Amino acid sequence: MLDTPNSVEARDTRYHLHSYSNPRRLAETGPLVIERGEGIYVFDTAGRRYLEGVSALWYASLGFSEARLVEAAHRQMQKLPCYHSFGHKVTENAVDLAEMLIAMAPVPMSKVYFCGSGSEGNDTALKALRYFNNALGRPAKKKVIARIRGYHGTTLATASLTGIPRNHTSFDLPMEGILHTDCPLYYRYGQPGESEGTFVDRIVGNLEEMILREGPETIAAFWAEPILGSGGVIVPPAGYYEKVQAVLRKYDILFVVDEVICGFGRLGQMFGSQAFDLNPDMIVIAKALSSGYQPIAALLVNEKVFAGLSAEAEKIGVFGHGFTYSAHPVPTAVAIETLKIYEERDIVGHVRNVAPRFQEGLRRFADNPFVGDVRGMGLIAGLELVKDKSTRENFPPEARAALELEMMCLDEGLVVRAIGDTVAISPPLIITEAQIDELLGCLQRGLARFT
Ligand code: PLP
Repeated sequence: MLDTPNSVEARDTRYHLHSYSNPRRLAETGPLVIERGEGIYVFDTAGRRYLEGVSALWYASLGFSEARLVEAAHRQMQKLPCYHSFGHKVTENAVDLAEMLIAMAPVPMSKVYFCGSGSEGNDTALKALRYFNNALGRPAKKKVIARIRGYHGTTLATASLTGIPRNHTSFDLPMEGILHTDCPLYYRYGQPGESEGTFVDRIVGNLEEMILREGPETIAAFWAEPILGSGGVIVPPAGYYEKVQAVLRKYDILFVVDEVICGFGRLGQMFGSQAFDLNPDMIVIAKALSSGYQPIAALLVNEKVFAGLSAEAEKIGVFGHGFTYSAHPVPTAVAIETLKIYEERDIVGHVRNVAPRFQEGLRRFADNPFVGDVRGMGLIAGLELVKDKSTRENFPPEARAALELEMMCLDEGLVVRAIGDTVAISPPLIITEAQIDELLGCLQRGLARFT
């Protein structure tokens, strides 16, 4: 198709720069052009069907053909296709959605700020922290600590929060004042002979040491995804968050929880914060908030943070922050409908019912000589590939082992996502048990070709 000058593939190579791509390699292989969706499946231009095992970018929780969401967008487009919430203007959708989110938040929250992406949500939280500490007369308390292998976005500030080298290298990041502490992945970072409990004590100890080294009066917040997604689906060990939160309380450090992937049922609870007993001061949500059908995200802040923000705004005269598409009426309409569907269909209950089949089925691949670790919770999982199971040595980067497996799964009709040495799987939440078996079958055939 690349040889046909006016094909989509050839024009894509000619005109389009893809996110997270190697342009030269892509020009050789050509893109995969997806044309339509139905339930948990997508179809390419040749009519080939793929089970979308990553919900596109972890967001299509209701699959790719939920008519109610299309109708909600259509209704709103006809009534008022665009408007905003700058100054004193607002549309009722924004108010309704904010009220729904405050009611369902995992811990008491006070206000919702809308934006268009997870990056914007995290960026807004970073800025909110500055306002908050300026209001409290603590201008030095501005540094934040995130984690190695955490992912929080792609703008300058949120790529800095992200703890993944490819997001920093050659972009001259991270920015000053953004620090990274240990990744809570026992399988990879536990030391020989170290128990999981000792590993937790060691890395939480390192966090405390970092805080003391920098000076607690300089640290504003700690940032975490409940399960780290784009860093390789990392489930922190039992007791980790309890100990982290005790350290944060001790040094008066706020807790920002990035629920962009974990929020809205993925882990078998409405929020990841509930799955791990987290008590955040700010929560960032996006993706499944609209099942990915419209770009919408939000930052929820508790009363303590809001009081600081509004005090500072009062002093200055304005909360000088706003995105053109914040609280846009169409994405908010779709998000409202999405949340109604989650409730009516008890999507969280469904995830809890089918998750054991998914997780247990995947754990059977642990017998494969090249599968070093299988991890996950609810409907998210990662398979870490290793060259040598006994030493846990990964394949060399040039082997691109996980990408190879991704391509083999694609041949078998399954979309998975290679992240470093890990293959991530996070299917639409509406997946049935029979479809989970189908997913596992494709993966098994992909793995059989890989090994
Ligand atoms: N936070 C997490 C946990 C994410 O997974 C992502 C995107 O994958 C983001 C933030 C950034 O969201 P966006 O790509 O919508 O800016």
